[in-house]
Amino acid sequence: MSLLSVGHLSVRFKQHHQDLTALFDISFSIQPGERVAVVGESGAGKSVLGYAIANLLPEQGYIACGSVRFGDQELRSLSRREWRKIRGHRIAMIFQDMMMSLNPVLTIGDQMVEAIRSHSKISFHQARQQAIDTLHQVRIRTPEQCFYQYPHQLSGGMRQRVIIAIVLLLKPELIIADEPTTALDVTLQAEILHLLKEICEQHQVALLFISHDFGVISRICERTLVMYAGKIVEQGPTLGIINDPQHPYTQGLINALPQMALPGQPLNQISGNMPSLTARPSGCAFHPRCPYALPECRYLTPDFFYTGVSATACFVVERIQTVNADSEVDHGTDI
Ligand code: SF4
Repeated sequence: MSLLSVGHLSVRFKQHHQDLTALFDISFSIQPGERVAVVGESGAGKSVLGYAIANLLPEQGYIACGSVRFGDQELRSLSRREWRKIRGHRIAMIFQDMMMSLNPVLTIGDQMVEAIRSHSKISFHQARQQAIDTLHQVRIRTPEQCFYQYPHQLSGGMRQRVIIAIVLLLKPELIIADEPTTALDVTLQAEILHLLKEICEQHQVALLFISHDFGVISRICERTLVMYAGKIVEQGPTLGIINDPQHPYTQGLINALPQMALPGQPLNQISGNMPSLTARPSGCAFHPRCPYALPECRYLTPDFFYTGVSATACFVVERIQTVNADSEVDHGTDI
């Protein structure tokens, strides 16, 4: 059984005159211990997806239809009380803004002991030892000292390690990490990604990793979902997507990576911008920016075309792959 199974999920935001759709018909699953990335530009709907799964949508947001199953439980039907047992315990979130996740007026130790004692009845002394062991596990060099420090006394990298330590204490089955390393410099980013990957592997924790950066996700995730304007447009194994992207949007994202630019030349940016919720283009929403757009792309929405474990929603990809498959069959017949 999948650990997380999202089926035909649509999310809307209430507005004065009409509700706006932010996510369209999202379906995917995550197996226990699997690390899956959600990638796309700002405004693609990646964070909305993470918040919808964790039932943390802002007040005006709501799930219009679809299902979010965690193991054999439908999360949409849970009460607030039931959610409190799941969020933070079985499903944990790591946000980009670390200071938002830590209480500035409590020491790291107080916050960790509180987290431990919220789900197990052990003494302060035992909880303190467990907290220090976990700080050690996330490679804080002076865990005893860190235990008595306040968040503002720690560097960005240490705060992110502390948050990973607090998440670990709760032994979640799924971590949703929303751009967790964006605010860190490149060296710290690499260290935190390595730590997160190692911890997920050691403890068999599944990860839904939200990022705009293919360079980052290639280091940590086995499978990738590419999102554009609230829809998944391509999904498959991360290395397959990076080495042979099918959807024109995915190709654009990979071409825009700094390492793809020629020395002294500007970055290869995708022309145009991600559409806002109020100005979503008809048909394939990528058509105003797509170099291969066909006339029908303006008014028809492509379905997923599957090739093995990968899927792409694009008319041109579907045509090319169908022609290739037909020619392989013809070639086989000739022989
Ligand atoms: Fe481009 Fe058309 Fe494919 Fe959309 S469906 S990505 S517009 S070719």
